[in-house]
Amino acid sequence: MKAPRYLSAAFFPARCCVCGRVLEPGGHLCEACLPLRLPLTGGSARCPVCAMPVKDCVCGDRLWFSTLTFPFLYDGAVRAAVGRMKFRHGTDLFAPFAEEMAAALRRRGLTGADGVCFVPMQPLRRWRRGYNQAEELAKALGKELGLPVLPLLKKTGGARVQHTLSGPERRANLLGSYEVPPERERDVPGKRLLLTDDVATTCSTLNEAAKTLLIFGAARVDCVCVSARPRLIKKNGAPPRSEAANGGADTQ
Ligand SMILES: [Zn+2]
Ligand SMILES: [Zn+2]
Repeated sequence: MKAPRYLSAAFFPARCCVCGRVLEPGGHLCEACLPLRLPLTGGSARCPVCAMPVKDCVCGDRLWFSTLTFPFLYDGAVRAAVGRMKFRHGTDLFAPFAEEMAAALRRRGLTGADGVCFVPMQPLRRWRRGYNQAEELAKALGKELGLPVLPLLKKTGGARVQHTLSGPERRANLLGSYEVPPERERDVPGKRLLLTDDVATTCSTLNEAAKTLLIFGAARVDCVCVSARPRLIKKNGAPPRSEAANGGADTQ
């Protein structure tokens, strides 16, 4: 049984989820860390996919997902906090970070989904760690948004024998690292899905996972992470993917 909130607040004071400083009950970012929260709206022209100012866009090309939302950049204290989530002593960070993810989605008007799914982890790695941080974030986010958590993806254990696969499975098998297990195939078609991970580094993991969901019939995939690596101010100076190529994905 969970301890009542006032009791757990006395024994486990609220701490800033980024720097660990003790806080007044209720919040989860200290004053010093508040400015790290990305605004995602307003100001200069923004990338329709990642909501960053166009010059700081973190998206790659040829994206399958419609949008990518993250409340923080993967840098400094946030980077350290995201690292802590991978160890037992950092598991109390899932709930506050999921609240930040939900708030970021609300700022962009992107909460109208049918369910939350997550980037899976190799079973052996998951067993060693005891949990998959993307899955724990999905659970906390689902709770925050009142959406079901759907374990729709798993890592492919090497290429399956092609001739035993259906059409969409065959394409997914050719494409990559993820698949929808047969018992979940009926849960995907027509669904608008949120897809979680802890950090978007190159976007290629999210892109592969989103591609698999779309091949299996998902209507739309919106990615949401705690943070994304600030990079990709493209070397050749090319602008990010145009709104036309994106199909105007930032609107609901
Ligand atoms: Zn702080
Ligand atoms: Zn972008």
